[in-house]
Amino acid sequence: MVAVPPNSGADMAAVLGRQRAAFLNEGPPSFADRKLRLKRLRAAVLAHRRELGEAVSADFGHRSRYETDILEVLCVIQAIDYLGRNLRRFMKQERRHVGLFYRTGRARVEYQPKGVIGVMAPWNYPLSLTIIPLATALAAGNRAMLKPSELTPRTSEVIRLMIEESFRPEEVAVVLGGPDVGAAFSALPFDHILFTGSTPVGRKIMKAASDNLVPLILELGGKSPTIIARGRATRQTLDSIVFGKLSNGGQTCIAPDYALVHEDDLDTFIAEFGASIARFYPDGPTSRDYASIVNDHHYERLKSLIEDARTSGARVIETGLTPERAAERLRTIAPTLVVGAGDDTKIMQEEIFGPILPVRTYRTIDEVIDYVNARPRPLALYYFGAQDADCGKLLARTTSGNVGINNTLLHFAQDDLSFGGVGPSGMGAYHGIEGFRSMSHAKGVFVQGRWNLPSLMRAPFGKIADLGLKVMLGSDRRSKRRGSSSA
Ligand code: NAD
Repeated sequence: MVAVPPNSGADMAAVLGRQRAAFLNEGPPSFADRKLRLKRLRAAVLAHRRELGEAVSADFGHRSRYETDILEVLCVIQAIDYLGRNLRRFMKQERRHVGLFYRTGRARVEYQPKGVIGVMAPWNYPLSLTIIPLATALAAGNRAMLKPSELTPRTSEVIRLMIEESFRPEEVAVVLGGPDVGAAFSALPFDHILFTGSTPVGRKIMKAASDNLVPLILELGGKSPTIIARGRATRQTLDSIVFGKLSNGGQTCIAPDYALVHEDDLDTFIAEFGASIARFYPDGPTSRDYASIVNDHHYERLKSLIEDARTSGARVIETGLTPERAAERLRTIAPTLVVGAGDDTKIMQEEIFGPILPVRTYRTIDEVIDYVNARPRPLALYYFGAQDADCGKLLARTTSGNVGINNTLLHFAQDDLSFGGVGPSGMGAYHGIEGFRSMSHAKGVFVQGRWNLPSLMRAPFGKIADLGLKVMLGSDRRSKRRGSSSA
C-alpha cells in the first residue's frame, strides 16, 4: 500500500498535535538522543544518495550527479557532522554576569528546544535546503514537519520515504503538496518556522505566521552583486564567477546575479568569461555537468529576460563553446552575458536564477557602493580584489547577507558561519551556533542566593532604601553636579 502523506489542513494539524504531545510527554531529548537522531539522518541520506541523485536529475531534466553529491549531499553530511561535533558545547548552559547588588545570586541561560519546527523548502537545492534545517532542528532537540517543493516531485518523494524509514511520525513528518498545502502548512501554530524560498512567498508566510505569533527564519532571494576590482578580471576570478553562476544552471539563491566590472576591464572580462566556460563545459551547453532549467515556466521566464534586455538595446552574448547546441537538449539555456542593460530592464530588476549574467561597468568604488545601496539589500555580495581600502569601504558601507571575497558560494559551506539575508533577502540565520540558537528558546534563569540584598529595598520604604539608593545612584547633589559638568 502506498502511504498517503498528510496534506489537508486537518491532517497536518493532527500530525502537529501528535508531535507536540510527544514533545511534552517525553521532555527535551538528551545529548545522546540528539546525537542518535543526527546519526539516523546521516545514515538515511547516505543510504539514499544514489536515488536522490537520480531523482534530482529527473526533476531538473538534467543535473550532474556530481553537483548533487558535492553541492547537496556533501553539504548535508558536513552540516550534520558539524552539529554532532559541537552539540555538547551548544547545549551547555551559559553563566551570565550578575550585577553587584544581586551578587549573592546566580544567572544563567538555558537553551531549551522550542518544540515543533515547520520547515518549508524550495526546489533549487531540494535536499540540502530541507535536510540542513531539519538537522539543525533535531540538534536543538525539536521535532519537525517538512514541506519540500512540489516542483521537484521525485526528490520530495525520496525525502518522504527516507524520513519515514528513519523516524517515527511523532519525531519527523513530511507533507507533500504545492502552494495550497504550503499556505495551510504556514498557518499551523508551530513553535518556529524556517522558510526558504522567494521573497513574494516569504511575505505570505510571514503574514500567516503572524496570526499565531510564530517566530520564523526567512531565507529569501534577491540580486547578489559581484564586484571585480580594476585589473582583477583574471582567469582565477572568472573561474570562480563561472563556478558560482553556472553551478546548477544558475539556479542558486546565492549565485552572482550581476557583475560590476571596471570600465577598463570589460573586454577582458568578456573574453575570460567565455574562456572559463569553455574549460568548465567542453561540450558546450550539452555538457554532462551543465544543468537544465527546472521547468517550462522558468525556461520561458529566462528567455523573456534575455529578449527584454535585447529589445531595450543591451548586447546579448551567448558564450562558451557551441552555445547554439542548447536547443538540442531539454530546457537548456547557453551561458549568456548581457552587457549594458538599463536599470529599467527586467533582468536588472528581477532575481535572475539562471545562467545569464548582466554586466555593468563602473569607474569608482563609491559608484559601486551607491549602486548597491540604491537597491534591496542582497542575500550575498562578492568582491574580487585585494583586501585594501576599497574592499574595506565596500564591506563597511553596504549591508547584505554573507560576503565572499575572491570566491563565490563557499560561505554557504562554512558550517561555523551564520547564513541568512537581511530585509528583503531574509531575516534570522541558521548554520553555526546561530542556527542552533534560533531553534532553541534562550531561557534566562536567576537563582536567588542566601543573602538577599534587594529584599532590603522593599516596601515599606524608608531609611535603608534611601541609603541603598544613595550608594547605587549617588546623592542628589552629586548627580546634579555630574549632569551640569557633562552638559
Ligand atoms: P517559492 O517561494 O515559490 O517556494 C518555496 C516553498 O513555498 C515551496 O515549498 C512551495 O511549495 C511553497 N509555496 C509556494 N507558494 C506558496 C504560497 N502561496 N503559500 C505558501 N507556500 C507556498 O520558491 P522556489 O521557487 O521554490 O525557490 C526559489 C526562490 O527561493 C528564489 O527566490 C531563491 O533565491 C530562494 N532561495 C533562497 C535560499 C536561501 O537560503 N536564502 C535558498 C534557495 C532558494
